[in-house]
Amino acid sequence: MKKDLIIIGAGPAGMAAGYFAKKKNLSFSIIESTADIGGNCRTLSMGDFKFDTGAHRFHDKNKMSTKIVKSLLKEDLKKVVVPSKIHWKNKTVDFPLQLPSIVKAIPFFVLFKIAFENFIKIFKLNYIANNFKEYAYDRYGKTLSELFLINYTEKLWGVDTENLSISITGNRLKHLNYLSILKSFFSFGRKNEKHIEGSFLYPKNGFGSIFDAIFNKIGKENIILKSPVNKIELMQNGCYKVFTKTGLEMDCDKIISTLPINIFMNILKPSPPIKLIRQANNINFRSLRLSVLFLNKKHFSNYASVYFPEKKYPFTRIYEPKNRSSFLAPKDKTCIVVEVPCDSSDDIFNMNESRFNDQIKKIMIKNFLINEKEIIDQVAYSMHYAYPQLLVDDSHIEEILSFVKSIKGIEVLGRSANFQYLHTHELLYSAEKCLQRCGFS
Ligand SMILES: Cc1cc2nc3c(=O)[nH]c(=O)nc-3n(C[C@H](O)[C@H](O)[C@H](O)COP(=O)(O)OP(=O)(O)OC[C@H]3O[C@@H](n4cnc5c(N)ncnc54)[C@H](O)[C@@H]3O)c2cc1C
Repeated sequence: MKKDLIIIGAGPAGMAAGYFAKKKNLSFSIIESTADIGGNCRTLSMGDFKFDTGAHRFHDKNKMSTKIVKSLLKEDLKKVVVPSKIHWKNKTVDFPLQLPSIVKAIPFFVLFKIAFENFIKIFKLNYIANNFKEYAYDRYGKTLSELFLINYTEKLWGVDTENLSISITGNRLKHLNYLSILKSFFSFGRKNEKHIEGSFLYPKNGFGSIFDAIFNKIGKENIILKSPVNKIELMQNGCYKVFTKTGLEMDCDKIISTLPINIFMNILKPSPPIKLIRQANNINFRSLRLSVLFLNKKHFSNYASVYFPEKKYPFTRIYEPKNRSSFLAPKDKTCIVVEVPCDSSDDIFNMNESRFNDQIKKIMIKNFLINEKEIIDQVAYSMHYAYPQLLVDDSHIEEILSFVKSIKGIEVLGRSANFQYLHTHELLYSAEKCLQRCGFS
């Protein structure tokens, strides 16, 4: 039977689209390639422990999205006020950067250099940064940027910051600059609670429970798992047929694709212009490998996340689920999730699990972050399509997306589908708009 709508992918974007499709009483199916919903926002269980696939929090930045998540989770959605920190030269520095902790961590002559660089910036009026490096230097000065931002960003995104678009900040640095650092000096210990890093919403049972709640609303009869979509064909009657590797063929009027844009361009029939397919095949997504360590101790730290800007660490961040919700680990034990960004062609992404875990464990022990006796267990988890690599030169992406926009009856939605650094609150909000553009008001 022909559906009103087929949604491809059951990650946050697909589930958000499904939420509105259900609300609008449409006949629809979500088709997902793996055995689970949630995409890159899953909460996994191991014995008494639960952990998210990477450090997730719900950003209270869009009223409608927050209202939906609150209505889904009710009292299970908690406001968490836990700071994050930067680990630098075995010292702990406040994140976002605060002057008192910078003063404590950095030698006096370097502080003087930082102050001087930020002072002369006052005379640089109307400066427009063209890339992330220029943007960081403009906000913090060269020295402070090099210490805490540039290395970190290059590890995360895998290219020189001169080639990276400013949009990789995802507005996280919007209210942060040398003035906010200076202000922190006069706040007498009060933290910048408004900044998303220090105060956020988080579900009692892990971030993935947002999508489990949406799953319950949608109903399992509308979700088809373990069925990778491998062809989307426009039929002569103007409808679409969606094919899966498992042999399913489904007809529909409209499609919302949350597939990575490069995959989408390759399975669309009739095929897009060859030039655009080639361009799509050349775009890069950063992958992420997680090493999860289960520890026989109450806490690893008191922080939501700890950031590691130094190049000697292959990881960028360690997050401790228990510090977001005490329900995620037993009282006397904890677990930590170590995030290692890489390309899917990198050795570290492809080496076997035990070698990867061993490498991470050795670095952690060597740098006194944990000791061997504390480790109860260790597992690894791999994520393709974690971050769209947003480069300064993005004209080819614009070309691809404007082609996609011109296709009648198909909308693309999602972080990898739109090739944008999007977060779940933005996906929830955009999902409704997407359905409206499909004509389902
Ligand atoms: C480390 C990390 C931390 C993050 N922290 C936050 C945070 O704090 N807050 C926040 O809001 N966001 C955060 N995000 C972003 C968030 O994870 C993404 O915005 C979100 O996962 C994007 O959802 P999506 O549905 O667009 O894509 P995905 O999550 O990638 O989902 C796509 C889905 O499509 C499926 N699929 C792929 N190919 C096919 C196929 N051929 N057929 C059928 N299905 C297919 C996949 O299996 C997957 O389920 C973070 C991301 C990472 C990596």
